[in-house]
Amino acid sequence: MKHLFVSLAPFFIAATLFSQEANVPIVEQLDLAGLENGRKHSFWLSLGEDHLSNPIKIPVVVIKGISERPILGLTAAIHGNELNGIDIIHQLFEKLEPQNFQGTVIAIPGLNPLSIANNQREFIDGVDLNRVFPGKANGNKSEQMAYQIGQKIIPFLDYHVDLHTASFGRTNSLYGRGDMQNDTLAGMLRAILPDIIVSNKGKASFGFASGLTMRAFAIQKGVKSITVEYGNPQVYQKEMTKRGVDGIQNLMVHLGLLKGDAQLAKKIAICSKSYWVYTDKGGYLDVLVTLNQKLKKNDTMALVRNSFGNVVSTYKAPEDGIIVGKSTNPIAISGSRIVHFGILN
Ligand SMILES: [Zn+2]
Repeated sequence: MKHLFVSLAPFFIAATLFSQEANVPIVEQLDLAGLENGRKHSFWLSLGEDHLSNPIKIPVVVIKGISERPILGLTAAIHGNELNGIDIIHQLFEKLEPQNFQGTVIAIPGLNPLSIANNQREFIDGVDLNRVFPGKANGNKSEQMAYQIGQKIIPFLDYHVDLHTASFGRTNSLYGRGDMQNDTLAGMLRAILPDIIVSNKGKASFGFASGLTMRAFAIQKGVKSITVEYGNPQVYQKEMTKRGVDGIQNLMVHLGLLKGDAQLAKKIAICSKSYWVYTDKGGYLDVLVTLNQKLKKNDTMALVRNSFGNVVSTYKAPEDGIIVGKSTNPIAISGSRIVHFGILN
């Protein structure tokens, strides 16, 4: 009998997974009012169609507590190779008990599904989806995707955290971006317990794109939105997951969704601005500083060696500051990123 149980166990597990999957409804719109309180709900939300005329589906997990508001939105992987946020949402939702909190959490663990499958940052037309908001109803591929996100998700939210990581070939500290001049946003940024906060308003200032980031679009719509960067692309980093889950739970306390005393990070580095420092020579880049390291003006940050090992360029801190992010890819042509340099208040 024991033997029979053991041999059938994998079948039952597989059958359970299959039936859960089969029961997830595909919806065209979120209908929060129609959802039962005190429960977790899972959906596929349809945002356009693929070449087989099937919906392009994004996963949506909703926990409705004992009241509907406030509504906190969590979005991960708008850049398809930035995966730590997916794990953060999965682990967070395993912990949350709907009976224990006020309000609603709407989480999207994988906002750019076609690009996630391709291990790529950009949308499948090669455009950065996070630079084309508000998008266009009848625009090109990325514009329509951004438009649908802007119509079907963002307007529901009171608060929003967009979870990112560094891009390919780079690594980030755990840092938040948002407007520190705004008290609500400043409180949210401190509550997610980052190493560093970089204050900015989220306007896309990139020559090839005329649009906004999702965060700037959300702010325009009256949603209190911040961006948080969690480590490295294309990996799950468990230290980042743990800090992410703890920080978002702390944010939920701060916003009144969970009971308790919220911690607000006080002794953290707050940057009034930040910028990238680039190479002017080509060769092999050796970045000598670590994340979160504070530098004085003229401290050495990096070297570039040529193919024969001779140092062809040395890069020094342009002013006092802190290392927010840095390159991990030694291959450098002129104009390659070296460090993301934050200027402390
Ligand atoms: Zn990103």
